[in-house]
Amino acid sequence: MRSLIANRPVLRMTSELGRVMSAARARELQGERVIHLERGEPDFDTPPHIVEALAKAARAGETHYPDARGATPLREALAEKLQKENGIACTPDDVVITCGGTHALFIAFQALLGAGDELLVLSPHWMAIPKLVGFADGARYRTMPAYLELLAGAWSANEFADRVRASLRPETRGIYLNTPNNPSGAVLTRDQLQALARVAIEHDLWIVSDEAYEHLVFDDARHLSIGSLPGMAERTISVFTFSKTYSMTGWRVGYVVSPPELRSTMGPLLSFYSTHGVFPSVQSAALAALTGPQDAVEVMRRAYQERRDLLLSGLEGQVAVTAPRPRGSFYAFANVAGARAGRDIWTLNEEWLALGVAVLPGPAFGEEYADWVRISLAAKRDDVADAARRLKEHYAAAVGGRARTT
Ligand code: PMP
Repeated sequence: MRSLIANRPVLRMTSELGRVMSAARARELQGERVIHLERGEPDFDTPPHIVEALAKAARAGETHYPDARGATPLREALAEKLQKENGIACTPDDVVITCGGTHALFIAFQALLGAGDELLVLSPHWMAIPKLVGFADGARYRTMPAYLELLAGAWSANEFADRVRASLRPETRGIYLNTPNNPSGAVLTRDQLQALARVAIEHDLWIVSDEAYEHLVFDDARHLSIGSLPGMAERTISVFTFSKTYSMTGWRVGYVVSPPELRSTMGPLLSFYSTHGVFPSVQSAALAALTGPQDAVEVMRRAYQERRDLLLSGLEGQVAVTAPRPRGSFYAFANVAGARAGRDIWTLNEEWLALGVAVLPGPAFGEEYADWVRISLAAKRDDVADAARRLKEHYAAAVGGRARTT
């Protein structure tokens, strides 16, 4: 019998997250306790006024086919937010409401990438990016390690620009940028973004700017939208989501703002024929999130910052697992070269699962990251502290790496 699955490489891609989650589940079925730090799933409930707005809208009959571009009141409110808060010049017609940031990226790549086109992906990158690019017909991506170097201050802005220039190929159409970055927690500075913008303008490139974590910045870090820089609004597709800011991951609502050139493509074509838009009551709830009290956003931001501090201080006193201090998002990306001690990263993952700690191995974020793991801070405070304690106890006895007990 012929294979039911079409002969498309993207359909054979596997998920590292799925692999960790099923290994963790197998242990849980045996009665073991596993602390889940492998996923980016906030432990906060969606604020109640947003839930109420959904219920009210559904009762009022907002249950019919949506406008595939999104409801006008929400697009108007978002255009205002994008101009005031992000400094992105746009009108409501440039905004499309999507089924989360994932769908926004999906349609952005569909619009941008055709056969033979290449996207330059700064890395480490969110693990869905290879799949989302893979769905675009005949498109490819190339990675360029950048966020850890930028987070560490290892490159000047000019050096960053030079490295991006050196990574371009004739077939490069655009660059995928994600600040605050999942998984490293890097938040690009104005200088760094200006350097990237210069290269984009010089080489006539698009930027897809993923700003899913725009409100999750720590200490003195500030989020800046690259689309607000001179000459960039016309070459930037900016992607946002309600998932992280309002703890609304299950609601599947996000938005994308693109230049007027894409008006008839993003909403009427790509959104319409991929999902036919977002449940209207969810859009009313998103409007309530945007226009209602914002205190929950700050409460969650502080909580993630506190958990980052708990994780980093909890790991002090050993050298097998070391994480550069994240400036945003809700992850830490930890170097585990000492803990791995030359073994396969998945062997280390099993060892950590036996300690009761699930994280996501670095290769999910780019093949260069075999010495790294992502530790999610979107988990209960006590779980983050407990995981750090377990790791520290395991490695503190070892000098310079692998625990003596293993
Ligand atoms: N971009 C990044 C960098 C993410 O980490 C995520 C979710 N983990 C998304 C986009 C998409 O989120 P959602 O589809 O829930 O809006």
